[in-house]
Amino acid sequence: MNTPLLNTQPSCDDDFDPASLTCAEALAQISAQIRPIEDLEQVALRSALGRVLGAPVISRINVPGHINSAMDGYAVRAEDIPVDGIASLKVAGSSFAGRPWLEPLTAGSAVRIMTGAVVPEGADTILPQEQVEAGDGQIRLDGRHKRGQHVRAAGEDIAIGDEVLCKGQFVNPAELGLLASLGIPEVTVIRRPRVAFFSTGDELRSLGETLRPGDVHDSNRYTLHGMLTRIGAEMIDMGVVVDDPEALAAAFARASKVADVVITSGGVSVGEADYTREILTRLGQVHFWKIAMKPGRPLAFGHLGKALFFGLPGNPVSVMVTFYEFVQPALRRLMGLEPAPRILLKARTVGELKKRPGRIEFQRGILHQSADGALEVRATGDQGSGILSSMVQANCFIVLDMDTGKVPAGSLVEVELFNGLVQGFC
Ligand code: AMP
Ligand code: MG
Repeated sequence: MNTPLLNTQPSCDDDFDPASLTCAEALAQISAQIRPIEDLEQVALRSALGRVLGAPVISRINVPGHINSAMDGYAVRAEDIPVDGIASLKVAGSSFAGRPWLEPLTAGSAVRIMTGAVVPEGADTILPQEQVEAGDGQIRLDGRHKRGQHVRAAGEDIAIGDEVLCKGQFVNPAELGLLASLGIPEVTVIRRPRVAFFSTGDELRSLGETLRPGDVHDSNRYTLHGMLTRIGAEMIDMGVVVDDPEALAAAFARASKVADVVITSGGVSVGEADYTREILTRLGQVHFWKIAMKPGRPLAFGHLGKALFFGLPGNPVSVMVTFYEFVQPALRRLMGLEPAPRILLKARTVGELKKRPGRIEFQRGILHQSADGALEVRATGDQGSGILSSMVQANCFIVLDMDTGKVPAGSLVEVELFNGLVQGFC
């Protein structure tokens, strides 16, 4: 006899839900909705670190500015190098970095020169000091040297009129140095995205508040603060909003007036007190709200007026995973950056990985290189979406695709290394 089945709805515990988008579909929908910010600002060079250039940078100078020496030694005319035998040249003077020898080099003489110093007019070749004999105001040289050796041409690195950095370039320390080498004190950058965010939930207590039974400290605003800081967003932290439709609607309205992007956490699933999707439908537009992924299936994406809206799930790991996979690329696009190439490495899993087919999983993993140089990964243990310590231990996501089931130990799996957004420099 067949056991009768209740007429139920897909829940977070189900692995397949036909109403869910794949991650690729969700990313494509998000990307299609974003218009990069075009507002520009001028900032002092140091403040350009972590910003995106709003205009190309054209060099007005040559770098290096003059022909200079690549070695400590002697600047000579190639004609004075003997074809065979030994020749002597008189040392006429010296050219140090910052203290050039200003007279032209005459036939039969040499100028003592240090690395980076200007090569005097008439000289075209540098003899390394180790390859000559020096004494009594003279040097003795043989025929081993080649015309033009150890000379750095003016403009060898950058020439006048070169486009050295293009619009949309992210400014890292190397770009700062390059801009400084061109003598550029201020640069044009794209305005930072303004992101308003708040946590939702009656159980959430701010730091310093006493926890009653069932309460938790609001941690999502802190992980969001960290990731938004790293990405270089301007933040508007709106605190905690209780599970009350009117309070939430008021917060949504306020946030959408001041921000390019509104991010909430919690209240996006289908519980009695989960109002996010309903309010977004009422005040704006919902583009989608379910992705076939774990953790993080309920994720409402839409618009609130002109602002983009991300209603992230409440669970702390889900917040980090969905931010990493969806909000980060969206903010990058908004900032005028090209999508970062998503680099997945193959590593051997040390233990068995639990998984059921139906949705993509981002398990937290620890990647390391074994003694023989092979990449190995192990899961951090319990993969519950509330276990934030798994994100602390992990240095990568083990990405298991929709169709994958249980993965035996020793199999090759794909891992996505955390970039500087989640894990800095250690
Ligand atoms: P929700 O999506 O609102 O049903 O929340 C799912 C789970 O995440 C619940 O156990 C919440 O208590 C927890 N949670 C929601 N928001 C936060 C937050 N800001 N900080 C820490 N835990 C949270
Ligand atoms: Mg809640």
